[in-house]
Amino acid sequence: MPATNHDKIVVLDRDGVINQDSPDYIKSADEWLPIPRSIEAIAQLHQAGFLVAVATNQSGLARDYFDAFTLAQIHQKLAMTVEAAGGLVSGIFYCPHGPDDGCTCRKPGVGLLQQIEAELRVSLPGHCFIGDSLRDLQCARDYAMQPVLVLSGNGIKTREQLAENRLGDTPVFADLLDAVQQHILA
Ligand SMILES: [Mg+2]
Ligand SMILES: [Zn+2]
Repeated sequence: MPATNHDKIVVLDRDGVINQDSPDYIKSADEWLPIPRSIEAIAQLHQAGFLVAVATNQSGLARDYFDAFTLAQIHQKLAMTVEAAGGLVSGIFYCPHGPDDGCTCRKPGVGLLQQIEAELRVSLPGHCFIGDSLRDLQCARDYAMQPVLVLSGNGIKTREQLAENRLGDTPVFADLLDAVQQHILA
């Protein structure tokens, strides 16, 4: 089937964008805590007619820090938190591999974006990908998406690396709600 070319779609990174990140990984639903205003941001996207897809590296699976069932519980908590606020996440796509596994889905690889296109029947080039890490922005650029940086999570460190990585023109916002209101919906 051809892509529907849905004209409103946004891809979001998860850790450091939607929820608080941790150097010790997010290993349970209890450890998954939304960043203030991020859930409201997703609700506003949904109410404005945007499809919202999440693309997240979860190497904690390969490292055996948590299992696929626990990750499903974490993602159920994410989805239900968003739905309780009047939003909708159309899909959470994750890379379960480690950095040395040679997969194509671990960002900055674009495999997750290809999965989103296949499952949601959309075309992503030209649309925004909001992340907090350099690999999110590189992934977006390599797929002809528009990288957008938020300063939550790793964002402050990432901002210092933009110029040297040919990402100096990336729009930067304090958090997801600012990015949504001042860039996506503006
Ligand atoms: Mg992140
Ligand atoms: Zn992978």
